[in-house]
Amino acid sequence: MRESCQHCGFEFRLNVVSDRRTGTKYLRADCCDAPLRPCPDPAELLRSANLTPSERDYLQRIANLDWFTSKVASVLLQIEAKVKVSGEVTS
Ligand SMILES: [Zn+2]
Repeated sequence: MRESCQHCGFEFRLNVVSDRRTGTKYLRADCCDAPLRPCPDPAELLRSANLTPSERDYLQRIANLDWFTSKVASVLLQIEAKVKVSGEVTS
């Protein structure tokens, strides 16, 4: 399924830029370079109790990478969305 970009209207592609000094990762649109939002932090997501074992494995595997592909970023966004939704039910 193709998603169109809300900034330029063309086919949306995700891009991850990382700041080498701080290690912070930020998501941008690869189609038009519009800044989107900070990349979800795997270490933060790992604190959630709502992960499947395979999601946990995945996050642990990528947590120490200093560079993410757009594929990794989109998986992180999916996990983050899931964790946030189920997070509202707990506590
Ligand atoms: Zn765009």
